[in-house]
Amino acid sequence: MTADPTNPAALRPQELEAVYAISRSVASAVNIDSALDEIKRLTRPVFIFDNMVLYLKAGEDSLEPTYARAIGRGRSHEAELSWGDAVAYDAFKSTQPVIRMERTNDYPENRTQLWYSLGLSLNLESETIGSLVFIRFGGPPFEDDQIRLAEFIASHVTQLLGHKQLVQRIVNLEAERRLIRLQEDFIATISHELLTPLGFIKGYATTLLREDTTWEDQTRKEFLSIIDEEADRLRELLDNIMDSSRLQSRTLRMSYQPVRLDTFLKDVSMRATSRHENLSIDLQLDTPIPPIQLDPSRLAQVFDNLLSNATKYAPGAPVVISLNSNDSLVHISVRDSGPGIGPEHLDQLFKRFYRVPTSGPRVRGTGLGLFICRQIINAHEGEIYAESVLGEGTTFHINFPIERKQIADNITFQESRP
Ligand code: ADP
Repeated sequence: MTADPTNPAALRPQELEAVYAISRSVASAVNIDSALDEIKRLTRPVFIFDNMVLYLKAGEDSLEPTYARAIGRGRSHEAELSWGDAVAYDAFKSTQPVIRMERTNDYPENRTQLWYSLGLSLNLESETIGSLVFIRFGGPPFEDDQIRLAEFIASHVTQLLGHKQLVQRIVNLEAERRLIRLQEDFIATISHELLTPLGFIKGYATTLLREDTTWEDQTRKEFLSIIDEEADRLRELLDNIMDSSRLQSRTLRMSYQPVRLDTFLKDVSMRATSRHENLSIDLQLDTPIPPIQLDPSRLAQVFDNLLSNATKYAPGAPVVISLNSNDSLVHISVRDSGPGIGPEHLDQLFKRFYRVPTSGPRVRGTGLGLFICRQIINAHEGEIYAESVLGEGTTFHINFPIERKQIADNITFQESRP
């Protein structure tokens, strides 16, 4: 390009004004397409054109039109914006503006069948990143002073693209930082969670192995059952971590079969009350619901987690599970009358690793359970959400469509971490 964008002395006052306006709009641009629309709008009063096409480098030697606007006579030629391709490629390879004049056999009967195109390369730092093409149907040809003005416009478009690249780099950097933070959080949470049961296992096993002391049967049994429980906990944690990473890689397979929800919920409740001795469940099952296609073991995982949470975060409070349906939906709710959850946490509960800070550090957990629950319910084309009133309790609601559109074999991962 020959024009020096820092020295616009050669421009006419009206052109100068337009160039400054363009420069201001580039500086404040937040969205590239609307900024290009603004450049097009500000350019029109001082520079005649019918089509404006921005081509960006898409590979070593290829260009892709990424923004194209046809106005005036160009409107009827909107579908033929590829007319700018040849000049765009020529300009991309040249440091000078490229002008072409072309016509079809219809000319001169149809004046618009003669067109002039002007291509300008866009150079950012020492790299050519694309070209900008202006087309005039039926003339007038591009004169030198007009070409100079077009060069100023092209230099601002380049600045805009540079600006966009910078923003993109910052966005990438921010995403990278978030990922690192996520990994650090993950490692910190997981290490802590794994080390706690491991510490118990090691401590009690070492104690039992001491040769300088003998243990009564009762004490030895107690220590061994702690080791046994903590080993179960380790296994559960590792299962959760594995599920969570399979969810991320979308490789957690689902296996659907017809399930009668009333029977299923009775089984789930019985298992939970035998596992947690202080848990009491009031089952409120509506009229029988025909079997629906579900993955019973994944679904059991959801209810095991909700009921185990009830025993952890609402200990001693009875839990009510209710099941009802209408023509299209099945609704299940799991309600406890525990301390409840503040409204500011409700949306976050289903994010990976999220734990309500006020739940107290003594209650053990990883914040993976509800994340996994939501992914499993989503795979059933259902939804899960929580309602809670502080001091009154928490209700988890699950809705399933009775007839699902399609059955996903794999769980679709939905990243919900901020
Ligand atoms: P974890 O129990 O391992 O921390 P979850 O994902 O299962 O992870 O739960 C996320 C958070 O939601 C818990 O840490 C807890 O703060 C909160 N929570 C879940 N269930 C309840 C409940 N029934 N009552 C109060 N808080 C709850």
